[in-house]
Amino acid sequence: MHIPMHVLLGEWRPQQTRKTGYLPTARPHLKETDYSTLIKPDTIIAWVDRKAYRVTEITERPVDLWPERFANEWKRYAAWWVEQVMAGRNMGEQPEKASWEHRPLALSIQPADQPNAKARHFAVRASRSFYVLPEHYSVCRLCNEIPPCTHVTTEASVEHAMENTERLMAIRPGCCLGCGEPVTSRMKAVRFPGPNLWRPDMGDDSAVFHARQDCSGSVSSYRQQWAQKGHDQLQPELPGGDA
Ligand SMILES: [Zn+2]
Ligand SMILES: [Zn+2]
Repeated sequence: MHIPMHVLLGEWRPQQTRKTGYLPTARPHLKETDYSTLIKPDTIIAWVDRKAYRVTEITERPVDLWPERFANEWKRYAAWWVEQVMAGRNMGEQPEKASWEHRPLALSIQPADQPNAKARHFAVRASRSFYVLPEHYSVCRLCNEIPPCTHVTTEASVEHAMENTERLMAIRPGCCLGCGEPVTSRMKAVRFPGPNLWRPDMGDDSAVFHARQDCSGSVSSYRQQWAQKGHDQLQPELPGGDA
């Protein structure tokens, strides 16, 4: 099964919709399209648990009933705003707590397949968006989640990681960690100094890739991990001169 990269990287997105729903207060003038819509009562959304919920109500929360983290965030924001003005920046009109774009709204939802269930209430940021599901949405037979379900993504990423490890372990020293083929002295190459993150057993300064389009995806993911490990003070050796 082909699993798209963003799924493997952890950002879940339902397979059956590309429609994003905005809370009406966030985008009052939004033009509805196949990709964006306003969330209103009866809209079906995919919640963070990958389940489908029907929106029953969206209401403002009185400012004195904001959950603490929102109130604290507002305080920090308001103080920052004043600081900017004091520093001489043109900040436009002074924001008001009651109409702040990141204020909490009360969103009430109920499981989409249980019309008699008691609604649950959440404080959600007015600026936040959700994936909107069609009336005839599908769910996984086993877990009732919106596909790809947690089970499938976990399986896919484990499988992906195993395949990748097997592929890497088969690469011989001096070969490209991207495609596994030899890097000869006549070829342009990108070499990373320091420990070899993908094949530590090969020793320091052994990470090498072809400097060609086909292997550039591997170079950038290696470079990313390498920077995360704090090795980016070492400069990778990029191809120079003629090959
Ligand atoms: Zn499932
Ligand atoms: Zn290569």
